[in-house]
Amino acid sequence: MPLKLFNTLTREKEEFEPKEEGKVKFYSCGQTIYDDLHIGNARPYAVWDTLRRYLEWKGFTVRHVQNITDVGHLTDDGDQGEDKVEKRAKELGLEPMELVEDQIERYFEDTQAINVERQDIVPRATGHLNEMINYIEKIIENGYAYEREGNVYFDIDAFVKDYPYGEMAKKDLEQLKKEAESRVEEDSKKKNQYDFALWLNAEGTGHLMKWESPWSTGYPGWHLECSVMGQKYLGDEFDIHAGGKDHIFPHHPNERAQCFAATGEGQARYWLHNEFIQWEGEKMSKSKGNFVTVRDLLDEGYSGNALRLYLVSSHYRSETNFSREGFEKAEKELKKLKRTLKRVEKSGQEGENVLEEETEKLRKRFEEEMDDDLNTANAKQELMEYINSVNAALDQNSDANTGEAKQVLEELFEILGVELREDKEESELVETLLELRESARENEDYETSDFIRDRLGEIGFEIEDTDEGAIWVES
Ligand SMILES: [Zn+2]
Repeated sequence: MPLKLFNTLTREKEEFEPKEEGKVKFYSCGQTIYDDLHIGNARPYAVWDTLRRYLEWKGFTVRHVQNITDVGHLTDDGDQGEDKVEKRAKELGLEPMELVEDQIERYFEDTQAINVERQDIVPRATGHLNEMINYIEKIIENGYAYEREGNVYFDIDAFVKDYPYGEMAKKDLEQLKKEAESRVEEDSKKKNQYDFALWLNAEGTGHLMKWESPWSTGYPGWHLECSVMGQKYLGDEFDIHAGGKDHIFPHHPNERAQCFAATGEGQARYWLHNEFIQWEGEKMSKSKGNFVTVRDLLDEGYSGNALRLYLVSSHYRSETNFSREGFEKAEKELKKLKRTLKRVEKSGQEGENVLEEETEKLRKRFEEEMDDDLNTANAKQELMEYINSVNAALDQNSDANTGEAKQVLEELFEILGVELREDKEESELVETLLELRESARENEDYETSDFIRDRLGEIGFEIEDTDEGAIWVES
C-alpha cells in the first residue's frame, strides 16, 4: 500500500514517492539549544522518529538529518532581537558554548528517554560557517542578495521574477509586504521590509558569537543553516522536510527561497508540519506558568515509554490538549499492554491459533492508518482493540494458542516508539524469584512467598496471580 503524506506546499495528501527508489532523504528542523525540551517540542521529535521507523519498516533506507541551532536564532524569530542562546547564557553567567554543551547533553538524554533515536546526522550551525559564507556568496553572484553596511539581505523582488515565494504560506506578495511592514521595526538598510537577513554585522551590537566574512565580522541569519546543512547532507533536491507549523512562515519559505537562489532547486518535495499542543487547556507558555518539560514529567515518575505512547496517541496535524491525566492514562494503557504480553507468554502454542483472523486484520488496519498521513492515533487505537481481543481469548481459555500475538504487538508498538522488549537478564532474575515463590507456596511457606512478592513490588515489579500462573509487570 502506498504511503500518503500531507504536503503543505499543495495542501493535499500526496502519494509518497522518493526521488531515488527505495531511499528516503529526510530533514527535520531541530532544537534551538538554550533550554530544556518542553513537551510541546517533544511532539515533533517523537512524530518524525515514528515516520523514520515506519519508512524503514516499509523497506526504505532512510537518511535522517536533524540540525541543532546553536547560533543565529534571534528572539523575534526574524532579523531583530538578541540571539536566544547568548541571551540565556548571559542570564546564567556562562559562555554561549558552555550553555550549548550542557544543553545538548540534556537534550539527548530527554529525547532518548522518549525513545527518539539519534538521527543519522545531527549537524550544528556553528560547525558550518564556511559553508554558509560560501552559500551567501553564491546567492549574491546569482543576483538574489545585496550587501548594506556589512549586512547581507535576500532580495525578494529580484527573486520573485524567477521563482515562487510565499506559496507554502498561501500568501501573495502584497500581503507579505504589508505584514513585514507591520511586523518588524523598520530596517532602513533593507530595500524592502520583507527582505530578510542572510548575514548580520555584529559590530557595535554586543553579539558574542561572530565570524570573519567578506562583508563584516558577524553571524548568519537563522534560516540559512537549514538550507545549507540540508543540501550538504541530502543533496540539492531531497524528499521530506519537516517542522512545526510556525515554520510555514517565515522559516520554511525563506529556507526554500535561499535554496532556489543558490542552487536552482527548491530543496524538499514534501513539506510536513505538525500542529501545536495545548497544555492543560491553554497555549503552553512560560510566563503563564503552564509550561512543562520532558524532564519534569520523568522526574514526576512517568516512564519515557508512557510519554512516547501519549505523544503519538493523537495525529500530528491535530491541535491536541495534553495533560497529566493523559499521561496517567497512557501509563495505565502501557501496564495493560505489558500484562497482556505476559499472559500471552504463559499461554499455549498448540492447537488452532484462535487469533489468526484478528492478527491479520490488525496488520492490515495498522498499515492502512499509518499510510493515511501517519495516523498514529487510529493505528494505536487498532492496537488497543487487538489487546482486548487477546485478553478476551485468554479469559475464555487461558491455554489458548495466541499465535504470533506477542511478536506483532512488539513489532507494531516499536514503530510507534514504544519499546516492549525486555532486558533478558532482568526478566530471568525475576522469573527465578517467582519460581522460588512458587515452591514456597507449594510448601505452604506463605511468609516467604509473600516476602518475595512484596519485595519485588517495592523495586518496581508488580506480581499478579492469574489462571495462567503468576505474572509480573514492571511498574
Ligand atoms: Zn530549519
